[in-house]
Amino acid sequence: MTDLPSLRESLDAHGLMAKKSFGQHFLLDLNVTRKIARLAGPFAGDAVIEVGPGPGGLTRALIESDAGRVIAIEKDARFLPLLRELDDGSGRLRLVEGDALKVDERSLVDGPAHLVSNLPYNVGTALLIKWLTGPWTPASMTLMFQKEVAQRVVAQPGEDAYGRLAVISQALCEARMVMSLPAAAFTPPPKVASAVVHLVPHAERLAEARIRKLERVTAAAFGQRRKMLRSSLKPLGGAALCEAAGIEPDARAETIDVAGFLRLADALT
Ligand code: SAM
Repeated sequence: MTDLPSLRESLDAHGLMAKKSFGQHFLLDLNVTRKIARLAGPFAGDAVIEVGPGPGGLTRALIESDAGRVIAIEKDARFLPLLRELDDGSGRLRLVEGDALKVDERSLVDGPAHLVSNLPYNVGTALLIKWLTGPWTPASMTLMFQKEVAQRVVAQPGEDAYGRLAVISQALCEARMVMSLPAAAFTPPPKVASAVVHLVPHAERLAEARIRKLERVTAAAFGQRRKMLRSSLKPLGGAALCEAAGIEPDARAETIDVAGFLRLADALT
């Protein structure tokens, strides 16, 4: 990777500018992308899937890492010629042109694979939900979000940011915020600060039916977060459901921990 032109030179050489519609805010400092790759690893030869390589700063850091293969999915076809220059002929880099929301990851990897991405903000939450609750489970996820979204993933009961995203993320994964970055670290800078969250799925994955019940309970409870659970959960059983789960019916959603929501989900018939 050392004899490659700088990321800025690469962008200029290919006449590429960021497009807002693709959520493009680039990391052009390899010290930053190498740090993200270090926080994501070690990969010990496992595959890594990167969503949205863009000009390839994070891709370069992942190719330098101990990942066995790097599979990069990019929706904006303009970047593919530039990204092909990162291929050193070893066969470790695979470029996939497509929409990460529609890709079936099971067709790309047949063993454990880690997700690493500076996510396009407009689809970041939708992609996280897909990887949390979909048919394919990553070995780990190291994802850059808008800071406000990162806070909603790792929030604890009683915090303003605590809601559906925290409960579903933490019911399925161990989730930690591992890095914060100011808007000025990106080209062009977004309006808000960003943060990286590292998620590792729990050893025992929840059964599909439990995930669906958890989604129903959290949607109802946080859909009316200021109301008591006896009222917000009325369509699902109200006070009786709370009592079956050992939860105080007068409590509000924001005070119930992940274990409490799992009991509510399990009490649903
Ligand atoms: N990884 C690069 C970096 O850190 O400099 C670019 C990150 S930029 C925030 C998001 C990237 O995701 C862009 O390259 C954009 O074209 C790409 N992208 C946007 N929507 C996508 C989608 N649905 N599927 C795959 N890539 C997408």
